[in-house]
Amino acid sequence: MGRLKESSPVIPLLLLLFPLLLHHSLTKVLGESESTREGNAQEIHCSRERSRAAWQIIQDYLTPFVERERYQIPNKCRLHPDNDLYRDQEQHKVHVDVYEWKCGYCRKSFNEEKFLDQHFATRHYNLLNTTGTKCLADLCGALHCDFVLMSSKKGKIKCNPAAAAKNRHLCESLANTCFPVSQGPAASRLHEHFLRQFCDAHTCTGKNKPFPRGGKKKSGVFYLAVSILTLMLLPLFYLLVFLHQREKRTGTQVLRRIVKTGKKTKPS
Ligand SMILES: [Zn+2]
Repeated sequence: MGRLKESSPVIPLLLLLFPLLLHHSLTKVLGESESTREGNAQEIHCSRERSRAAWQIIQDYLTPFVERERYQIPNKCRLHPDNDLYRDQEQHKVHVDVYEWKCGYCRKSFNEEKFLDQHFATRHYNLLNTTGTKCLADLCGALHCDFVLMSSKKGKIKCNPAAAAKNRHLCESLANTCFPVSQGPAASRLHEHFLRQFCDAHTCTGKNKPFPRGGKKKSGVFYLAVSILTLMLLPLFYLLVFLHQREKRTGTQVLRRIVKTGKKTKPS
């Protein structure tokens, strides 16, 4: 009984402290899992931004030609969509509005794309298949990502002959694995196209520019704007013609009236 009396004030105290202790241990566990998540996210040495740039270059300067040839890029080719580490996550980006980006996995909203990127890196890193070499950013040297990324920043890239030779080698190996000449005429044409479009510019002479054969036609928007403008201006043109004609008619009528009244007054 004496013992119970002694311990009795301890029990309410423990009861009081319990939620606090629970909260402390929970945050500790959660904090640890959060930090391990971030740790795992940092383990991936593949730039999301550069992978995206490489993907865009492939879409703009290669895919239209591949589609025209109705050619199927083999899986072992590093340009194949399956070999892009971030492809699945990029496809789960929902651009709702200018300032609204939604996560396609959990529907969480962000007002900038970079915050959604961070969310993918910390919350959905487990969806990334990091086995094997699937980093598109690794092909950036061959695909001229800097040329595209820097041209928007107006910076001059200094040419390094050793780096140019290395990139040329990578570029040619891509041409060989993605478009093997032995696969037939379509593959041969695309092989040739790839060399001209991407590999020729890997020199320090500055003679060859990347993507000499052009890319995806972006004139669609221009034609749409011109046709909308024409449709808007056409009624205005007819209105002007109509007004002009009417003015001409009333003018001649007034003239006729003047002539008539002039004739009537003359004989008297
Ligand atoms: Zn999410």
